[in-house]
Amino acid sequence: MNFVFLGPPGAGKGTLAAKVAVDYDIPHISTGDIFRAAIKAQSPLGLKVKAIIDSGALVSDDLTIELVKDRLSQPDAQKGFILDGFPRTIPQAEALETFSDIDAVVNFDIADEAVVERLSGRRVCKACGHNFHVKFMAPKQDGVCDACGGELYTRDDDKIEAITHRLEVYRKQTAPLIDFYREKGKIVDIDARPETTAILQEFEGKFPRS
Ligand code: AMP
Repeated sequence: MNFVFLGPPGAGKGTLAAKVAVDYDIPHISTGDIFRAAIKAQSPLGLKVKAIIDSGALVSDDLTIELVKDRLSQPDAQKGFILDGFPRTIPQAEALETFSDIDAVVNFDIADEAVVERLSGRRVCKACGHNFHVKFMAPKQDGVCDACGGELYTRDDDKIEAITHRLEVYRKQTAPLIDFYREKGKIVDIDARPETTAILQEFEGKFPRS
């Protein structure tokens, strides 16, 4: 199956996608992860997008569309995939239709206040990328990764000004995709508030593994 995971930042798309990818044996394709890896590697792409991403704004449609088109042409994406964080604008969704068929768009439903609480408390390991949360998934020792002992930090785009901006961008530019896909009969709504295991169960009920 070809899935799109749609929802505001902090809705838990990435966490669920990582689990679904393993369970259904399909790649988890996160444009945010691809951009962050490019920034870390200081590649030409990374240098181009760093300031935009740190501010919480969107990278240009043209650049993002080309990146995803190329990624979806790779052999591992031919058996299915999860797109996490793409499309984020109507032009991206229209472009996606020209090079791929989407079976279902999973819409993660969550209120803005819950998003702010989740993102502002998120901490990421500098060394291995593991995610924690100061309230919901606290590391055993403050500021230290349980998995590898690395130092935990707050992503620049998880700072409060950037979160507010990302939510505005989401409501204005991305939320219209809900109607775009609902009209095509592709939307499947998921309540994004419960624990990941409960959401995964709901997901598996809706999309039984073949
Ligand atoms: P995410 O981890 O999905 O929240 O993405 C982090 C950041 O990467 C976003 O705030 C944007 O700056 C950029 N980004 C990710 N996906 C897209 C996209 N489809 N279109 C434009 N920018 C994107």
